[in-house]
Amino acid sequence: MGHQWSVSSAACFPWGICRRVAQYGDRVRNPWPLDLPSRIDRAAERRESTDLESCDAIVVRDGRVLTADGRLVELAPDAQPSASLRIYLGRDGDRDLVALVPEDPGFGADPDGIGGERMRGLRDLLAGFWDRGAEGERDHELASTAVAIANWHASHPRCALCGEPTVPTSGGWVRRCDNDEREHYPRTDPAIIVAITDPVDRLLIAHAAAWSPKRFSHLAGYVEPGETFEQAVHREVAEESSLALSSVEYLGSQPWPFPASVMVAFRAVTEDPEALDLDMDEVSEARFVTREELAELVRTGEVILAPKGSVARRMLEDWFGGVLPEPRPDATVDV
Ligand SMILES: [Zn+2]
Repeated sequence: MGHQWSVSSAACFPWGICRRVAQYGDRVRNPWPLDLPSRIDRAAERRESTDLESCDAIVVRDGRVLTADGRLVELAPDAQPSASLRIYLGRDGDRDLVALVPEDPGFGADPDGIGGERMRGLRDLLAGFWDRGAEGERDHELASTAVAIANWHASHPRCALCGEPTVPTSGGWVRRCDNDEREHYPRTDPAIIVAITDPVDRLLIAHAAAWSPKRFSHLAGYVEPGETFEQAVHREVAEESSLALSSVEYLGSQPWPFPASVMVAFRAVTEDPEALDLDMDEVSEARFVTREELAELVRTGEVILAPKGSVARRMLEDWFGGVLPEPRPDATVDV
């Protein structure tokens, strides 16, 4: 017997266009939707068969990528430096792209190089990528993947079991040990980040002991083996702040290859903000702020928040209900 499907009229506008349920981030300018597939086709089925030396290349080394005017530079094969490693990134339209790690550690380091091209850190590029909307999201995807996988190769040169050197294979997505024939795969370490509000909708902002003095963000921490993301949220927040949480809700995620994470974002409520008691080793300062208080702290430069394009910034602006103000020109900014 076939099923009869019907669409609830409550979910559709009268002219028949189904209304999308409001999503996280909708209240603010949101050029990078969180519910879409990748803009680049990773084309895993082409990793083995593609000639990596005939592909256009993004240059990556030590967490940096080759850019010009804040845009990723893609070099044709005859313009590429000699490579110590090539990794297949996927298909962009009808082109195959690779990440190329140059042999020369000084490649692109000269800011006066041809066309102003130079190697820049992914964190520094985020805000500029964000400002370029869909095109910037594509650059962000490619750069994040290139940095993440190049970081993995750089930090996993040997077999974890027998200690012999391993060699890249499968388009750079596997390292193989010829001694014991084991294959080693890239890893990503999940970390949770959580926007915590109190019963009057003030937001907790926290300063990690290791950060530059004025930087504040949400509480965050690594997921441990054997726990769910949600359990990690409860545990990390209890360890760092002694706060108990309710209404834990998943928001979205973002690759965070510094050096090998994905940030998994949540929001949650604490019913008892007075219980705030910091673990001073990790978090040296934290407080609940109203929207007006946070705006003023940002304007005066007393607080520096996560960069545009980061999931942490989205979480802040989602709570704030719009784009956060910029520091005043006379504010002392210490980045
Ligand atoms: Zn081995």
